[in-house]
Amino acid sequence: MKILVINTGSSSIKYQLFDMEGKRAIVNGLAEKIGEDIGELTHKVIQADGQTQKHEFHDKIADHGKGLEKIVDLLTIGEQAVIKDKTEISAVGHRVVHGGEAFQTPTIIDSKVIDAIKENIPLAPLHNPPNLMGIEVAMSIFPDAPQIAVFDTAFHQTIPAHAFLYALPYELYTKDRVRRYGFHGTSHAFVANRCAEYLKKPISELNVITIHLGNGASVTAVKNGQSVDTSMGMTPLEGLVMGTRSGDVDPALPFYLTSHLEMSINDIDSLMNKKCGMKGLCGSNDMREVLEKIESGDQQAKTALDVYCYRIKKYIGAYYAVLGRLDAVVFTAGIGENSPDIRELAIAGLDHMGLSIDKQQNRKRIDGINEINTNDSKVKILVVPTNEELKIARETERIIKA
Ligand code: AMP
Repeated sequence: MKILVINTGSSSIKYQLFDMEGKRAIVNGLAEKIGEDIGELTHKVIQADGQTQKHEFHDKIADHGKGLEKIVDLLTIGEQAVIKDKTEISAVGHRVVHGGEAFQTPTIIDSKVIDAIKENIPLAPLHNPPNLMGIEVAMSIFPDAPQIAVFDTAFHQTIPAHAFLYALPYELYTKDRVRRYGFHGTSHAFVANRCAEYLKKPISELNVITIHLGNGASVTAVKNGQSVDTSMGMTPLEGLVMGTRSGDVDPALPFYLTSHLEMSINDIDSLMNKKCGMKGLCGSNDMREVLEKIESGDQQAKTALDVYCYRIKKYIGAYYAVLGRLDAVVFTAGIGENSPDIRELAIAGLDHMGLSIDKQQNRKRIDGINEINTNDSKVKILVVPTNEELKIARETERIIKA
């Protein structure tokens, strides 16, 4: 069975084609700069031995429909083709950012689901509209294939009211849906399950803190396999320090920025989402650049990294208290998987809580899961590569088989 997984942004389509029997992606790619004068399409065919052949195109991609058509052509025509025609694709799995309270599990997309995704646009104005566009385009190009939505928020729907409610007038929750939703759910769920497999423990008995550190970053407390709290809130702005997002700040900050600097709501929105985080603190949102700056003696970058790691440590402490018993702490995503320095700084000084890192093991690069705790550490510390697309493909397969 072949399943296509699509993650549509406002000017991009990220895609992977999975061979579910072979349990692997056979193609991955990214169409970018859709709607601009010159678009970019990178299409990689992945062999069984892991070798890839990369094909790059620099042509105008007028809209998402044209982008997806080009992708289908690449999958079906020419020397790089991997399938005979598009009917070989049994289903399409879509990443959808905000499912609100309507979706606790992945769902077959029909007109009611489309309406519900539309209803959640006010909660995710930047993400849900392009996700919807991807769905509509895929439905017209693959009219016979079931389309499945996998929501970033779904895994966090088990968070109890005492953790998802803000201390605001209750009507803001009941009437206006203001609450913590949480994001990166597909990734947190994927690595929690991989952790359970690794520890040979049923997921229903696993207590783990999963730390997703990519451009966006979030921590989740997983109790008996279910999300019971997470650092992102009503929007993905809350919580950890991120590439360009502030994470937690004093909620009175916007009043001060308005009265003192005469900033508009739009200015503040753009500031806190695009100009804060590591970019605001030291001028670079790419963590590799931050680490290079630190190497060359940049003290401001070092302070920024200290802020970043201190915030992670605070959440580990808070979620340890929430969980009571802790089996493991898991690092994942671009930074979590690749930066031993950040893992070491975030865990430093937590030995009294049973978290001791093996510094040498932490520096080793391992394919798959790396256990980086010392032998006498009470709590396991693991680096677990995330794979949101694979999780979406598996959920899609499960649903269409059911
Ligand atoms: P993601 O959103 O999961 O793709 O992660 C993107 C982030 O991972 C960016 O900030 C990258 O700088 C960071 N990253 C990727 N590779 C490394 C690395 N080797 N060391 C530190 N950060 C990295």
